[in-house]
Amino acid sequence: MAKRDFYEVLGVARGADADELKKAYRRKAKELHPDRNSDNPDAEAQFKEVNEAYDALKDPERKAAYDRFGHAAFEGGMGGGRPGGARGGFGQQGDFASAFSDVFDDLFGDFMGGRGGAGGRQRAARGSDLRYNLQIPLEDAFTGSQKQIQVPTAVACGSCGGTGAEGGAEPVTCPTCSGMGKVRAQQGFFTVERVCPTCSGVGQIVKNPCNECGGAGRIEKNRSLSVNIPAGVETGTRIRLAGEGEAGLRGGPTGDLYIFIDVAEHDLFQRDGAHLYCSVPVSVTTAALGGDIEVPTIDGGRSRVKVPAGSQSGRQMRLRSKGMPALRGAGTGDMFIELSVETPVSLTSRQKELLREFEKIGEEANNPNSSNFFRKVRSFWDGMKG
Ligand SMILES: [Zn+2]
Ligand SMILES: [Zn+2]
Repeated sequence: MAKRDFYEVLGVARGADADELKKAYRRKAKELHPDRNSDNPDAEAQFKEVNEAYDALKDPERKAAYDRFGHAAFEGGMGGGRPGGARGGFGQQGDFASAFSDVFDDLFGDFMGGRGGAGGRQRAARGSDLRYNLQIPLEDAFTGSQKQIQVPTAVACGSCGGTGAEGGAEPVTCPTCSGMGKVRAQQGFFTVERVCPTCSGVGQIVKNPCNECGGAGRIEKNRSLSVNIPAGVETGTRIRLAGEGEAGLRGGPTGDLYIFIDVAEHDLFQRDGAHLYCSVPVSVTTAALGGDIEVPTIDGGRSRVKVPAGSQSGRQMRLRSKGMPALRGAGTGDMFIELSVETPVSLTSRQKELLREFEKIGEEANNPNSSNFFRKVRSFWDGMKG
C-alpha cells in the first residue's frame, strides 16, 4: 500500500508553517485519540499515521528533507547519511505506545491552560513549585486554623497579560529554532541537540518586550494567601496549594505552593503523634496521703485527677481522649500526666519541727523503695567482708 502524503494526512496545504501544522495535528490527534474511538477499528492506524506525519514535519530539517525527497527521505537503514539526522528508523518511531504518550502530554498541556508550544516545551515554561515554612503553636494544631501568609513569588505581569510582549501582543515563533525550542549542532561525527539560545527552549520570542517585566511575562511580588490548616497537623505535614506557586514563563502553567508545617514546642505539653505528655508537680503530702489535683488540658480547660495515696515520682496517669485530634478526623489521642513529687523548700521552723518528729516515728518506716535499697546495701557490704 502506498504511503499517504504527510500533508494530506494532516489535512493541510503544502508549505504550511509550524503553527498551522501544530493546530492541524492537535485537531486530528484529539479526533482520533484511542480513548474516544473504542468503536472505530481504523482509528488506531490513523492515529499512528497522524503522529508519524507530524513527527516528520514538526522538525524543520526533516520537513525540508521531506519537501525535497518525499518519503524516500526517510527510507534506508539506521544512521549514516540520512537527511533526517540523528534519529532512529521511522518504523520504530511510529510505534503505538510512544505515540500515545506523546499525545497525552500534548492534550494535557491544553487542559493545563498552557499557551504556545507543544509537549516538553510547555513543561519547560511552567512556573516553579514554592516551599513555605509555617510555624504554628500547638493550640492551632489542636483546633485547626486559618492563617494569612505573605509569599514572595512571581505572578503574571498585568501590563502585558503574561505574554511578555508590550501591549499584550502575541509572541511569535522563534526564528533560530523555528519553534522547536532546540537547535542541532554538529560535533565531530555526532549531531547534538541543545536548548535554543534565543528563546531558552520556549520556542517563541517576543518582538517588543514588555517594559514592566522585561519580556518574562511575570514579575516578583508578595502575595497574600489564606491557608486552611486542618486540625491534627504535625511538624512535617505538607499542605499543597495547587496553582499558587510561581507563574509560568510567558503565560506557561503556574507551579504549586507547598506549605511545610512546623509545630512549635509547647511550654506545658510534649507531643508524640496524637498523644500528649505533661509533667505535673505534686506535693509530698498529696503524693503520700492521696488527693485531687487539677491539670491543664490542650483545649484550654482543666481536668481533675485523683492521685492515689503513696504515689511515687514518675507515676503515669492516662486521661482518655484529652490528646490531639488525628488528621482527617481519625480519632483523638490521650493525654498522659507524669507525677513529679516535690521536696518542700524554705520551711518554717514549725514545719521543720513536724518533719523531724515525722522522721523519728517513721525511721525507714514502710517506704518500699528505701527499705529495698537498704536491704541491697547491707548484702553488698556483707559480701565485701567475706
Ligand atoms: Zn509584562
Ligand atoms: Zn528558539
